[in-house]
Amino acid sequence: MKNKFLRTVVWEVQYLTPPPAVRYCKKCGRQKEFVSSGQFRVNAQRKYLDVWLIYKCSGCEATWNLTVLSRIHPKAVSRELLDKFHGNDQILAHKYAMNTDLLKRNGCKIGPYDYKITGCAAFDGPVRLHIRSNDASDVKVSAILREKLQLSRKEFEDMLSDGRIQSESEKDLTKCRLGKEILLVIS
Ligand SMILES: [Zn+2]
Repeated sequence: MKNKFLRTVVWEVQYLTPPPAVRYCKKCGRQKEFVSSGQFRVNAQRKYLDVWLIYKCSGCEATWNLTVLSRIHPKAVSRELLDKFHGNDQILAHKYAMNTDLLKRNGCKIGPYDYKITGCAAFDGPVRLHIRSNDASDVKVSAILREKLQLSRKEFEDMLSDGRIQSESEKDLTKCRLGKEILLVIS
Protein backbone atom coordinates (compact mmCIF):
# COMPACT_ATOMS: atom_id res chain seq x y z
CA MET A 1 0.00 0.00 0.00
CA LYS A 2 1.64 3.19 -1.15
CA ASN A 3 -0.60 5.21 1.26
CA LYS A 4 1.44 3.90 4.14
CA PHE A 5 4.38 5.99 3.00
CA LEU A 6 2.44 9.23 3.08
CA ARG A 7 2.77 11.67 5.94
CA THR A 8 -0.20 11.35 8.33
CA VAL A 9 -2.03 14.46 9.48
CA VAL A 10 -4.51 14.19 12.36
CA TRP A 11 -7.61 16.32 12.82
CA GLU A 12 -9.61 16.16 16.00
CA VAL A 13 -13.32 17.03 16.00
CA GLN A 14 -14.72 18.15 19.36
CA TYR A 15 -18.19 19.29 20.34
CA LEU A 16 -18.38 22.65 22.02
CA THR A 17 -21.89 21.98 23.34
CA PRO A 18 -23.77 18.70 23.87
CA PRO A 19 -25.93 17.85 20.84
CA PRO A 20 -29.66 18.40 21.39
CA ALA A 21 -31.90 15.33 21.25
CA VAL A 22 -34.69 15.92 18.74
CA ARG A 23 -37.93 14.10 19.52
CA TYR A 24 -41.68 14.57 19.50
CA CYS A 25 -42.98 16.62 22.42
CA LYS A 26 -46.59 15.78 23.30
CA LYS A 27 -47.13 19.15 24.98
CA CYS A 28 -45.73 21.21 22.12
CA GLY A 29 -47.37 18.88 19.58
CA ARG A 30 -44.32 18.71 17.35
CA GLN A 31 -40.63 17.74 17.11
CA LYS A 32 -38.58 19.77 19.58
CA GLU A 33 -35.01 19.90 20.81
CA PHE A 34 -34.53 18.40 24.26
CA VAL A 35 -31.46 19.34 26.30
CA SER A 36 -29.85 17.57 29.23
CA SER A 37 -30.77 18.87 32.69
CA GLY A 38 -27.60 17.31 34.09
CA GLN A 39 -29.75 15.39 36.58
CA PHE A 40 -29.89 11.60 36.82
CA ARG A 41 -32.85 9.58 37.95
CA VAL A 42 -31.92 6.33 39.66
CA ASN A 43 -34.25 3.47 40.44
CA ALA A 44 -32.51 0.93 42.67
CA GLN A 45 -35.52 -0.17 44.64
CA ARG A 46 -35.95 -3.60 43.15
CA LYS A 47 -33.87 -6.45 41.81
CA TYR A 48 -32.57 -4.35 38.93
CA LEU A 49 -30.93 -0.99 38.63
CA ASP A 50 -32.20 1.60 36.15
CA VAL A 51 -30.56 4.96 35.49
CA TRP A 52 -31.82 7.77 33.28
CA LEU A 53 -30.51 11.21 32.39
CA ILE A 54 -33.35 13.73 32.49
CA TYR A 55 -33.84 15.93 29.44
CA LYS A 56 -36.06 19.00 29.14
CA CYS A 57 -37.96 20.25 26.12
CA SER A 58 -36.57 23.58 24.91
CA GLY A 59 -40.11 24.78 24.18
CA CYS A 60 -41.96 23.85 27.38
CA GLU A 61 -41.39 22.21 30.74
CA ALA A 62 -41.89 18.65 29.52
CA THR A 63 -39.20 16.19 30.55
CA TRP A 64 -37.98 13.03 28.92
CA ASN A 65 -35.71 10.34 30.35
CA LEU A 66 -32.73 9.15 28.35
CA THR A 67 -32.01 5.55 29.31
CA VAL A 68 -28.42 5.25 30.54
CA LEU A 69 -28.61 1.85 32.25
CA SER A 70 -31.53 -0.51 31.95
CA ARG A 71 -32.27 -3.51 34.16
CA ILE A 72 -28.66 -3.93 35.29
CA HIS A 73 -27.79 -6.20 38.20
CA PRO A 74 -26.92 -3.74 41.03
CA LYS A 75 -23.63 -5.53 41.71
CA ALA A 76 -22.52 -4.86 38.12
CA VAL A 77 -22.15 -1.16 38.99
CA SER A 78 -19.44 0.04 41.37
CA ARG A 79 -20.33 1.96 44.52
CA GLU A 80 -18.30 4.86 43.18
CA LEU A 81 -20.27 5.05 39.93
CA LEU A 82 -23.59 4.70 41.76
CA ASP A 83 -22.61 7.60 44.05
CA LYS A 84 -21.92 9.70 40.97
CA PHE A 85 -25.39 8.95 39.59
CA HIS A 86 -27.00 9.81 42.94
CA GLY A 87 -24.91 12.98 43.27
CA ASN A 88 -25.63 14.13 39.68
CA ASP A 89 -21.93 14.18 38.86
CA GLN A 90 -21.57 16.87 36.18
CA ILE A 91 -18.64 15.28 34.34
CA LEU A 92 -20.51 11.97 34.07
CA ALA A 93 -23.76 13.66 32.96
CA HIS A 94 -21.80 15.60 30.34
CA LYS A 95 -20.16 12.39 29.06
CA TYR A 96 -23.55 10.75 28.46
CA ALA A 97 -25.03 13.91 26.95
CA MET A 98 -22.15 14.04 24.42
CA ASN A 99 -22.74 10.47 23.24
CA THR A 100 -24.66 10.68 19.96
CA ASP A 101 -24.76 6.88 19.70
CA LEU A 102 -26.58 6.70 23.04
CA LEU A 103 -29.04 9.38 21.92
CA LYS A 104 -29.74 7.48 18.71
CA ARG A 105 -30.19 4.20 20.56
CA ASN A 106 -32.82 6.04 22.58
CA GLY A 107 -34.69 6.82 19.37
CA CYS A 108 -33.67 10.47 19.00
CA LYS A 109 -32.48 12.45 16.06
CA ILE A 110 -29.52 14.72 16.67
CA GLY A 111 -30.07 18.47 16.41
CA PRO A 112 -27.47 21.00 15.22
CA TYR A 113 -24.57 21.78 17.54
CA ASP A 114 -21.27 23.65 17.54
CA TYR A 115 -18.02 21.85 17.11
CA LYS A 116 -14.40 22.73 16.44
CA ILE A 117 -11.79 21.01 14.30
CA THR A 118 -8.17 21.12 15.43
CA GLY A 119 -5.20 20.10 13.29
CA CYS A 120 -3.13 21.41 10.42
CA ALA A 121 -4.93 22.13 7.13
CA ALA A 122 -1.99 23.46 5.13
CA PHE A 123 -0.71 20.43 3.25
CA ASP A 124 2.48 20.41 1.26
CA GLY A 125 1.88 17.54 -1.15
CA PRO A 126 -0.29 14.44 -0.65
CA VAL A 127 -1.13 13.35 2.91
CA ARG A 128 -2.96 10.62 4.70
CA LEU A 129 -5.61 12.43 6.73
CA HIS A 130 -6.83 10.81 9.94
CA ILE A 131 -9.96 12.55 11.28
CA ARG A 132 -11.12 11.38 14.68
CA SER A 133 -13.51 12.25 17.47
CA ASN A 134 -13.80 11.04 21.05
CA ASP A 135 -17.53 11.66 20.97
CA ALA A 136 -18.51 9.40 18.05
CA SER A 137 -19.25 12.52 16.07
CA ASP A 138 -22.42 12.80 14.02
CA VAL A 139 -20.93 15.50 11.78
CA LYS A 140 -20.75 14.77 8.06
CA VAL A 141 -17.23 14.18 6.76
CA SER A 142 -18.00 16.44 3.79
CA ALA A 143 -18.85 19.34 6.16
CA ILE A 144 -15.60 18.85 8.09
CA LEU A 145 -13.49 18.77 4.92
CA ARG A 146 -15.26 21.72 3.33
CA GLU A 147 -14.99 23.85 6.45
CA LYS A 148 -11.39 23.07 7.25
CA LEU A 149 -10.08 23.18 3.67
CA GLN A 150 -12.37 26.11 2.81
CA LEU A 151 -13.89 24.44 -0.22
CA SER A 152 -17.08 25.41 -2.00
CA ARG A 153 -19.51 22.59 -2.73
CA LYS A 154 -18.34 22.60 -6.36
CA GLU A 155 -14.65 22.50 -5.40
CA PHE A 156 -15.31 19.64 -3.00
CA GLU A 157 -17.23 17.64 -5.62
CA ASP A 158 -14.49 18.26 -8.19
CA MET A 159 -11.85 16.96 -5.77
CA LEU A 160 -13.96 13.85 -5.15
CA SER A 161 -14.54 13.09 -8.81
CA ASP A 162 -10.84 13.72 -9.63
CA GLY A 163 -9.84 11.31 -6.87
CA ARG A 164 -7.93 14.03 -5.02
CA ILE A 165 -9.95 13.13 -1.90
CA GLN A 166 -10.31 9.42 -1.29
CA SER A 167 -11.63 7.34 1.59
CA GLU A 168 -9.35 4.42 2.45
CA SER A 169 -12.37 2.32 3.36
CA GLU A 170 -14.26 3.52 0.25
CA LYS A 171 -17.02 5.26 2.14
CA ASP A 172 -19.36 7.59 0.29
CA LEU A 173 -17.85 10.94 1.26
CA THR A 174 -20.86 12.92 0.10
CA LYS A 175 -23.01 11.23 2.73
CA CYS A 176 -21.03 9.49 5.48
CA ARG A 177 -20.72 10.82 9.01
CA LEU A 178 -17.52 10.81 11.00
CA GLY A 179 -18.31 8.44 13.87
CA LYS A 180 -15.11 7.65 15.77
CA GLU A 181 -12.70 8.12 12.87
CA ILE A 182 -12.03 8.01 9.16
CA LEU A 183 -8.87 7.70 7.09
CA LEU A 184 -8.56 9.67 3.88
CA VAL A 185 -5.94 10.37 1.27
CA ILE A 186 -5.73 13.97 0.08
CA SER A 187 -3.59 14.75 -2.94
ZN1 LIG B 1 -42.39 20.78 24.60
